[in-house]
Amino acid sequence: MRITNQANLPDAIVQAVKNDPYPQQDTGDISVTRLIDSPQIRVLRERHWDRLEEDAADRIWSLLGQVAHGILERAETVAMTEQRLFANVAGWRVSGQFDRLVVLPDGTLQDYKVTSVWAVVNGIKPDWLHQLNCLRWLAERNGHAVRRLQIVAILRDWSRGKALGDPGYPQRQVQVLDVPVWSLEETGAYIRERVRLHQAASGGYVPECTPEERWERPTTYAVMRRGRKSALRVFDSLDEARALAAGESDRRVEVRPGRAIRCEEYCPVAKFCPQRRAELGEPPLEQAPRMPPAFPPMGDAPVSIH
Ligand code: SF4
Repeated sequence: MRITNQANLPDAIVQAVKNDPYPQQDTGDISVTRLIDSPQIRVLRERHWDRLEEDAADRIWSLLGQVAHGILERAETVAMTEQRLFANVAGWRVSGQFDRLVVLPDGTLQDYKVTSVWAVVNGIKPDWLHQLNCLRWLAERNGHAVRRLQIVAILRDWSRGKALGDPGYPQRQVQVLDVPVWSLEETGAYIRERVRLHQAASGGYVPECTPEERWERPTTYAVMRRGRKSALRVFDSLDEARALAAGESDRRVEVRPGRAIRCEEYCPVAKFCPQRRAELGEPPLEQAPRMPPAFPPMGDAPVSIH
């Protein structure tokens, strides 16, 4: 992947982005971060790695996240930090790295996230839930008993003014959030299913990205009133919006089309993606992904976990 510098940033920043140690680490056949994410993105990234470009300015938050991790690791006194753990699942080496594991008797696994306020206002994000439970499973496989999972969210865009005016807004710039803990059996089944999906993708059976993986926002319907800029109410259903606007001559329904935010703005492989290209009416650059007509259920194939 080529790092560009379209904003003409100082060379030190560009070099810091280029010297991200993550790509050089041994992450086995797949890391937890990739495992819980879209197989299509992973396969396209691997296939087109030499042709991918990312601008240094777009990696600044990731860089600052690493800075925060480094400083916190340096300050740590009671916990094990930044360890990468491995386990074999169905012939693949799966790896994951936890930020901070407080050893027994507490057994808390914490992960630091430098993130937006909006990532925490609606509770724990599904990918945090998946990631931390997979890390717990790996920790257990490596002899570390984990009883509690937490996200330490450092809110990069937190506003004191908003916190003062809105009790529903996070009241502190750092939040410690408890993450629901799955059973180890449930997590093991989830990991095996994800490994199977990624193995199938590596073999050419690439599933399309799901609405969640595409960060889809559904189409909504806003009831607007003449002379007012913001919507009176926003609905998921056109009928409900029409009902509120009905009989009021100063009201109208505004359709706000749904979007796949990740495809449009963030996906590094969008220009190579057959799913995205088909959506835009562009011809595929390569053979479209194919799925077997009937994907055999889990129980049909022996799966080994060591
Ligand atoms: S462009 Fe969208 S559909 Fe294609 S790989 Fe990226 S996230 Fe998935």
